[in-house]
Amino acid sequence: MTKKLIDQYGRTLNYLRLSVTDRCNFRCYYCMPEEGMNFVDRKDLLSYEELEYLLDIFSSYGVNKVRITGGEPFVRKGIMDFLEKMSQIEGINQITVTSNGTLSRDQMIELKRLGITKINISLDSLNKQRFFEITRRDKFDEVFQCILDLLELGFEVKLNAVVADEKNISDIIPFVELTKYYPLSVRFLEEMPFNGSGKFEVPKWNHVVLYEYIATAYPTIVKLSDEKNSTSANYQIPGYKGSFGIIASFSRTFCGTCNRIRLSATGEFRTCLYGPAAVNLRDVLRSGASREELVQEIIMAVAKKEKDGFEAESLQAEAPKKSMSFLGG
Ligand code: SF4
Repeated sequence: MTKKLIDQYGRTLNYLRLSVTDRCNFRCYYCMPEEGMNFVDRKDLLSYEELEYLLDIFSSYGVNKVRITGGEPFVRKGIMDFLEKMSQIEGINQITVTSNGTLSRDQMIELKRLGITKINISLDSLNKQRFFEITRRDKFDEVFQCILDLLELGFEVKLNAVVADEKNISDIIPFVELTKYYPLSVRFLEEMPFNGSGKFEVPKWNHVVLYEYIATAYPTIVKLSDEKNSTSANYQIPGYKGSFGIIASFSRTFCGTCNRIRLSATGEFRTCLYGPAAVNLRDVLRSGASREELVQEIIMAVAKKEKDGFEAESLQAEAPKKSMSFLGG
């Protein structure tokens, strides 16, 4: 019988969000400063061998879903070989990816061959100029073509749009209209304080304001049932091919059913996105610890998982928030 990771509130933690790099080829304002950040040295990143070893431990404790994130995961050399190895780890029966949409068609075809067909693409605007202002990269056409290619290849595509005042409010309705023509899900996220600058204002455009704004434009809006542990509240406009969702990522309305744990590319193990690292598994591993000692570190961290993101945040209220590119989202 597979052992499980269960926290003090009885939540089973079976979903690992694994960052494979802090590097990215975009500079989204809500994630890192324009000049970028001090990316970690390659030697400080968990190697693919170390990642495989840790994944084997996590899967032996019931982690059966893994999301690959970054930075931008596809900028790390050797990522496709690693995903092939990962797809053979017993117990991991779902691998998903979050990308900024700069992966190549060859990589898409290889992902499909590996059975990795669920992908989230970060896209905050359907307007080329606003896209440039948000990402500081002139890559809108490439990203949108990537989305069309993924749909054509039969991927399940979700778009993640971080909504913020004076940035992309005029994109909200065009994004909902996009679901009229394409079988994808657009999710609107509240802005989060992980921008690497230490400056942050409570988002005006929270899940309530977002819902009311869309419902005013679409009175026939239909509530869809949400997957277990989902962070997204999902809706559809009757007759539209796709759907949209609202993720209260700052308001943290979904912590009661949280099944997530996180591992950064440098081995920082978090039981909550908003909380401090509970332990650095890279350092434990490189200190020569046994498999059992690593397991104990994970179990101890899980046992102390915070009730919700607010409690977790209060544990490091003074510390400057790390960039989402480092945390892995
Ligand atoms: S804020 Fe923390 S506890 Fe809440 S859902 Fe996110 S990771 Fe889980």
